[in-house]
Amino acid sequence: MSARIIHGEEGIRDSVELLRQGGVVGLPTETVYGLAGNAFDPKAIARIFEAKGRPLTDPLIVHLPEASWIERVVRFSSLEQREMVKRLAEAFWPGPMTLLLPKHPELPDLVTAGLGQVAVRVTAHPLFQKVLSRLNSPLAAPSANRFGRISPTSADDVRLELGDSIDLILDGGPCEHGVESTIVSIQGNHLEILRPGPITEEQLKEYGHVVSPGGIVNTPGSLPGHYAPKKRLKIIDSDIMSFPAKTRIGLMAFHTSVKEILGEFTSVELLSASGDLKEAAANFYGALRRLDESDVDLILAEPVPEEGIGVAIMDRLRRASYGSYHGTGHQDSNSPA
Ligand code: AMP
Ligand code: MG
Repeated sequence: MSARIIHGEEGIRDSVELLRQGGVVGLPTETVYGLAGNAFDPKAIARIFEAKGRPLTDPLIVHLPEASWIERVVRFSSLEQREMVKRLAEAFWPGPMTLLLPKHPELPDLVTAGLGQVAVRVTAHPLFQKVLSRLNSPLAAPSANRFGRISPTSADDVRLELGDSIDLILDGGPCEHGVESTIVSIQGNHLEILRPGPITEEQLKEYGHVVSPGGIVNTPGSLPGHYAPKKRLKIIDSDIMSFPAKTRIGLMAFHTSVKEILGEFTSVELLSASGDLKEAAANFYGALRRLDESDVDLILAEPVPEEGIGVAIMDRLRRASYGSYHGTGHQDSNSPA
């Protein structure tokens, strides 16, 4: 694990220098850590795919220095579309909302995996913002984990995932939201949520008719088996569960209640003692990672209420559970389900 974890002003300077040379850097965002490279440099983009072991069919999110940069990477298809984006950007940028829009022809095709649409957002993280404004170019940045694996929410997590394949990680402390941005596709005044995240259906409703498909959506790169631990994961449901006598079980509890009902566990992670969904989201991937690394055969996860950011947590839990049963999330496997 050779990647260097860097901090503060010096860290920003080193990150910008490496990005200028076409390198890739682990950077903090308010959602999860990203692996960033210059969006207009195809070699840097190729390095991102290589470091993550990500298939070239899985498109990347482009981070803009400011909303005013949007027409460098997007070509609006109508005035109405531009107007809708303006309203959404004023409401939610900088912040954890990603918009899917028609791609500008000059943006390398590798970024969008050859698709006609590009995913864009403006992050609210002050360190990422500083890197963007000094670099004066958009950055492509998917989450800084090996393909299909648990997203990193701290600099140490990035080092565990990609320490052997990247040089620098800028430390911005733990991520505020802890789950990936909400991805929204715009069709007229319809807003379709392709990936639930910190910006909720309730918040988007004010700006258009929201379509939230529910269940597991299969947008490019958003595989049913994403975010999977190496261990098997099962979401606790109302069915009676029985396991072989010596099964070592790790519990991911939402709040304290379930511990009393279910008795003995090899290890327990509590997402929020007070049952606060935002706190639970911020702790989610770290808890999953610790359970995955602990000495258990199986992870049981308590479901959380599907409201607010709880929708995003349940989306990730279902994918983690699907991936662990179908083998798509295992580190040695890159084949999508
Ligand atoms: P990540 O940055 O790792 O959270 O992953 C980015 C995700 O955004 C991808 O896996 C897709 O689900 C989605 N995405 C990015 N670009 C596009 C695009 N051009 N079309 C559809 N979905 C996209
Ligand atoms: Mg990801």
